[in-house]
Amino acid sequence: MGRGLISDDVISQIRDRVDITEIVGHHVSLSRTGQNLKGLCPFHQEKSPSFTVSPSRQIFHCFGCGAGGNVFTFLTRITGASFPEVVRDLGRKVGIEVQESAAPGPQTAQAGRIEQVNRAAAAWFHANLQQEKFGEPARRYLLERGIHDETIARFQIGVAPAEWDGLMNALADQGIGSNDLAASGLAVARDQAADGQRKGSAGFYDRFRGRVMFPITDLRKRIVGFGGRTLGDGTPKYLNSPDTALFKKGLTLFALDQAREAITRTKSVVVVEGYFDAIALHQAGIGQTVATLGTALTSEHVQVLRRFASNVVLLFDPDAAGVRAALRGLDLFVNSGLGVKVVTLPAGEDPDTFVRKAGPGAFVALEERAPSLLDYALEYSLKEAESGSLEGRIRSVDEILRILQKSEHPIEREERIRVVAERLTISQSRLIERYPALLARQKKAPEGNVPQPAVSQTFKGSPEERDLVWCLLHGKLTSSDVRRLRPDMFSVPACQTLIELALLSLDRDGRIEIRSLLDSAMDDELCGALATELSLREDHFDDVAAHIKGCLERLDLKRAESVLRDLIAQLKHAEREGRWNDAQTLNVQVNELQKRKAGATTAGPISLVKE
Ligand SMILES: [Zn+2]
Repeated sequence: MGRGLISDDVISQIRDRVDITEIVGHHVSLSRTGQNLKGLCPFHQEKSPSFTVSPSRQIFHCFGCGAGGNVFTFLTRITGASFPEVVRDLGRKVGIEVQESAAPGPQTAQAGRIEQVNRAAAAWFHANLQQEKFGEPARRYLLERGIHDETIARFQIGVAPAEWDGLMNALADQGIGSNDLAASGLAVARDQAADGQRKGSAGFYDRFRGRVMFPITDLRKRIVGFGGRTLGDGTPKYLNSPDTALFKKGLTLFALDQAREAITRTKSVVVVEGYFDAIALHQAGIGQTVATLGTALTSEHVQVLRRFASNVVLLFDPDAAGVRAALRGLDLFVNSGLGVKVVTLPAGEDPDTFVRKAGPGAFVALEERAPSLLDYALEYSLKEAESGSLEGRIRSVDEILRILQKSEHPIEREERIRVVAERLTISQSRLIERYPALLARQKKAPEGNVPQPAVSQTFKGSPEERDLVWCLLHGKLTSSDVRRLRPDMFSVPACQTLIELALLSLDRDGRIEIRSLLDSAMDDELCGALATELSLREDHFDDVAAHIKGCLERLDLKRAESVLRDLIAQLKHAEREGRWNDAQTLNVQVNELQKRKAGATTAGPISLVKE
């Protein structure tokens, strides 16, 4: 982890004021098991929780993929932000100012600049809405759509005037140029050849004109982009910022930052397609709602949702495009471990009009009765098939069977085959004949295509090394045990580093200060993962003191044997080359070591320095 130039003192002050369980809890739904908390790992796909957080040690570790560290490690990994950015963000949260002395990288600098520009633009759009004359059409429009003032403030909704350079002129006063606006996607470079008349701000014009503006914020509450709904009949009806160094549509979900708490609490998320739908549901008290940004759901979106929720409610328009979107979702969600339902609103209603008329209770009732995504897709295909010609029916059978294949449970699949056969008046055996894969797949492992974790979590060294490090991290070593520790007793480099750090973290009594050891271990990725793994691993030794003594002795012995082998090899080499003086010295050392090794179990540690 690059600490930049932030002082260790500031870093530890911030760390001492935050609680890792609270921070992680914003991203992962955790439940308590004994001393620790557990949840589904946000860094790899899993169905049973192996992601563990320790409140007492303020660390996390995933026993599935090996990810581990402290609160800073967690935030850098989950937000993709750099270490100094994370420290600064957390510092702001707990009221500790972090002096910026390190120069950020070019990508970070660009993203930082875009964020600044977006913030200024959002403030201006929002202020426009309050302007008496200027903001009137937009205010009227929002009123018609039933959006309250409070909601306008909460989502910082604004308006872009129907001008070519309104934003450019307004922000120029703040030292924000058209190049900055273009980098943020708020201005567009004019095609000079096609548009000779309009000169204006050095060949740029405002992207958003005559639109109600919705700032899009990420989980760090940064304004990453904008969505704009036209106020007139202009096209397109909805327009989004293009992807920038700060904004990736395929990764971002509108209102996720506002919905996160409710999603974590209810373990459920409602996915809608538009800004107004999301805002209307939030306003109606359905706070676990997010919206896609004019793109189809991506597998990255699904990954983001998995971090917080175990159930997904998809709310699509029941028109053909909406159904296609739902069917695409089938491929994305299959084997994601998420329960997915599809809510269909009565004809002619959208989420916005529906909750306003019928109230949030009616929405919850719809949600409870909603079919699973698989059944929804099946029902849709069946309806198509039933109404079609014989030829069409046979064709749609293939689609239906393709969908059925996605069901992971053989019994559910059989039940559905029965329903399909009945509805289409085709015999079950004919269906299976047509799609032998339906049965063939039953024999295969149902989770064959679940991705394997990227990093192995298993400890690489000998059992003695593992147990000794475990005892060390659990405060079982006495000061005399600590005096016998040497990095070169260990074969795993991460262990060697950890022992070096442990020997630097001694208290006045010569015992290891575990908290400060853990902190320094987190600066090294491998060492940090080793420390969190063994810190959170549950182990038990009947006689800890005897076990430690045994481990130390065996490691000493192994080390002595390896030194001996090395010396003998050197001795042979020296003899072959005729370096008799060297050979003589080496010979003395070998003899000495063999003598001591013979009495090793009774003597103290062998401290032989290899020269
Ligand atoms: Zn994991």
